[in-house]
Formats: sequence, C-alpha cells, structure tokens
Amino acid sequence: MLNTYKYLCKKNTRFIIKNKKQNNMDNCIFCKIIKGEIPCEKIYEDEYTLAFLDIMPVNEGHTLVIPKKHSEQLILNHDGDLHHVMDTIRKVVPIILKAVKADGWNLGVNNGKAAGQAVFHTHFHLIQRFANDGLKHWPHKNSTPEERTKLAEKIQQVLK
Ligand code: 5GP
Ligand code: ZN
Repeated sequence: MLNTYKYLCKKNTRFIIKNKKQNNMDNCIFCKIIKGEIPCEKIYEDEYTLAFLDIMPVNEGHTLVIPKKHSEQLILNHDGDLHHVMDTIRKVVPIILKAVKADGWNLGVNNGKAAGQAVFHTHFHLIQRFANDGLKHWPHKNSTPEERTKLAEKIQQVLK
C-alpha cells in the first residue's frame, strides 16, 4: 500500500519539478533557519519539525510550521514525515491561540508560484483569526452538476 502510494506520488508529481533552481536546498531560506544561519523567533522545535513566527504576519501570532527535511512543496515530501508536522501543529495552536487571545485559526499551504508560494520549502501557515479582523476568504464560482461530473471523470482518468 505504501509503495503504491509512493509510486503514484512520484509518477504524478514529476511534472511539478520544472525549475531545479527552486528545489535547491543550498539557497533555501527555511533550511538556513533550521541550521541557525538565519535567526527566527522559535515557538517549538523537535527532531523533525520547527515552528517559528512569520516575519510578515497576516495577523498577530502568524506562525510557520515546517518539516526539517527539505522538499519544494507538500506533495513532493515523499518521506512520510508530514504526520510530525501535524503533531506539531496540534501542539502549538492552542498555545498560540491562548497567547494572542484569538477566536479561531486558518491552516494554509501555498503550493507553487501560481498559488502564492514564495519560499520553496514545504511550510504550513497558522493564521490566527479574530472576530471582525477584516480578512476575506477566497471567492467561490458557480458550477453545474454536468461540469462537476465531467471534471471528476477527467481527474479519475489520470489515476488509471
Ligand atoms: P509562502 O507565500 O511561500 O506560502 O509564504 C512564505 C512566508 O514566509 C511568508 O509569509 C513570509 O512572510 C515568510 N518569510 C519569508 N522569509 C522569511 C524569513 O526570513 N523569516 C521568517 N520568519 N519568515 C519569512
Ligand atoms: Zn529548504
């Protein structure tokens, strides 16, 4: 099962690796933060993960959680260490919420330039939310049942 999963991941993610330069861990800011070459405001650290404050916060308490092992983006992380990231998120979120007295939080992952990714080391944004903080969710579009059926078939074709 794990091997099938790994095969599917690798087969279908190869097309993402277009720019080898982006995937270079030698000039990766977050790898430098992990190594202590660039300072950060550390919230939590363990063997696999690091949580630190975002330098340009969306809201007070905006924290980034990263796996220590470099990967360009979420689905290129083939090492099965993402559950450690989830463990860290579950640990730090209640603490940050309490510290900044937030009312809620968003979890965000930008994958690829088109999705707004600027740092090409897998990272999770923990964005604290406050009632009436003015942040807007992304806008939705309408879709017909026919469009959805066609699209679901198109996606399932890729799986075959
Ligand atoms: P992305 O757009 O790639 O999902 O988000 C990258 C995030 O990293 C941004 O929110 C940005 O403010 C943050 N960031 C970029 N450089 C640094 C840095 O050197 N230190 C810290 N703490 N955050 C950074
Ligand atoms: Zn990196």
